[in-house]
Amino acid sequence: MLHAEGPLLTVDVGARTATETTIDGVLEDYVGGRAAATALAHDRIPFDADPVGPENRAYLATGPLQQSQMSFTGRMNMTGLSPLTDGLVSTNAGGYLSRNFVGTGISVLEVAGASDELLAVHVTDEGVEFEEVPELKGATVPEVSDYMDAQHGLGPDNCIAIGPAGENRVRFASVMTFDSRAFGRGGLGAVLGSKNVKCVTFDGDAAPPVEIPNPPEMEIHREAAQSDDRMRRQGTTGGTEFINDNFSLPTRYFQDYGFEHAADIGGDAVEEKKYKKGACSACAYACKLPTRDEESGVETEGPEFETVYAFGSSQGVGDIVDVMRANELCDSLGMDTISAGVTVAAYLASEDKFGNAELAQEVTEKIAYREGIGDTLAEGVDRVHDDLGVDNYTVKGMEFAAHDGRVLHGQGLSYAVANRGADHMYAGMLSLEYSGELDPEGTLGKAETLVREENSAAFRDTGIVCAFGSDYVTEERLEALFDADHEDLLEIGAKTVRLERHFNNRRGFDGGDDGLPYEIPDLEDAIAEYYAARGLNDDGTVPEADIEPVAPPAGSVGD
Ligand code: SF4
Repeated sequence: MLHAEGPLLTVDVGARTATETTIDGVLEDYVGGRAAATALAHDRIPFDADPVGPENRAYLATGPLQQSQMSFTGRMNMTGLSPLTDGLVSTNAGGYLSRNFVGTGISVLEVAGASDELLAVHVTDEGVEFEEVPELKGATVPEVSDYMDAQHGLGPDNCIAIGPAGENRVRFASVMTFDSRAFGRGGLGAVLGSKNVKCVTFDGDAAPPVEIPNPPEMEIHREAAQSDDRMRRQGTTGGTEFINDNFSLPTRYFQDYGFEHAADIGGDAVEEKKYKKGACSACAYACKLPTRDEESGVETEGPEFETVYAFGSSQGVGDIVDVMRANELCDSLGMDTISAGVTVAAYLASEDKFGNAELAQEVTEKIAYREGIGDTLAEGVDRVHDDLGVDNYTVKGMEFAAHDGRVLHGQGLSYAVANRGADHMYAGMLSLEYSGELDPEGTLGKAETLVREENSAAFRDTGIVCAFGSDYVTEERLEALFDADHEDLLEIGAKTVRLERHFNNRRGFDGGDDGLPYEIPDLEDAIAEYYAARGLNDDGTVPEADIEPVAPPAGSVGD
């Protein structure tokens, strides 16, 4: 089976050491990306680690396809113990980092320890350098990029960076690359912040020789370039009105099921502000959305649909320029737009101030700097909903993505059991239910499908293939690309989900953590069906006999 190649590079920012460890066995068994990072995290982060303690580790991992010129592969995976959910999370970002990362010759970067001083870490094919950067304390993400350009001639495509939110350990701080692309969900920005790592740069020409089968690669590229999908013009916002018409666009902090101003913040509104094409590296599909409002001078990349929901309908804000401004603010300060937007919506609910975009932006900024009410909200809805006097719309501490589980019941089941919490990218149930392939009504009988969707998403995060490319990078083409049967690829995904859940079990998670803050039909029985389909114990835990250590334990080799 095709897999990533290259060693694990462990950077201990406390000891200022960099060591390489051969992980060929891990890569053969887990391919790369999310699966390999999860295997390493499972075996090398102590089960009782503090998410913002030096014992937590953050993993940035590539898959084998990042060496190709194939569309839908300009992405990277990041994994670690989440300050938001307290369990393992993996998150996926596009941009132009992946090729520069591969050029350093490594397959996985592991950031360990904690530094006394604010650091930039420079990774090249010739080694690692640590640079103290006290002048970047409190810098926004674009300010970090400007510094790296001026001092080192490196662009935002060479960097991952955190903003003030990460430094201030906001529980939903993101790690940014290319200034506008976020490793968003789960607060891994706070993990880098706790390690005093402001940015990591990647530069080199040492791509290891992995052969990618050419015909599917070229066909996929050609089809992506010739596609007339609406998504190529409007990105993920193209579905806003359809989703609203399906009563799946939560509005005013879940008080309503649809937004009367959906058209004002949806795909057409965004396309009107789009001033050029945007893409990830090597991707001819180019679905990204550089937007600009001439009158106000607001310029950003996006907003994507989830930001339209979080800073639009969820807050009762119906002006696309306000949503663009909030998007830019979150990118610049380094925060996940979904968690930030929904947390601010909870605040607006508590103050009865829906629709007040100016207040929303003021509070968003305060969160990043932990000023006043921002210090409370930086903890996320799960921890502060009682203080605010609002309902707790989270699962496992993670704020909900848009696609409403109260309407799409299979998607609701997915939110209920996902190891990561209420994230829409964990399984593709929403697509099946929107398309009618699966009846949105009811939860029973959907567990087998959910398991398969989770496994499929986990493998695509491993390869790594963009979630928006599934019509082009089909199951048959994945088989050709990876030289493997599709069922074997799904098994890699299954192993990944199992390791995530086992890690979380060892931190105290069990079936009591699977559920929803609202009622949908037969949820308890559907969760039991899921446990059976997943091969779990009745209490939602992973049988210990199913777990074997695969990664070199921390401290054994090269640490
Ligand atoms: S489809 Fe869009 S998000 Fe995915 S890799 Fe291509 S440009 Fe990036």
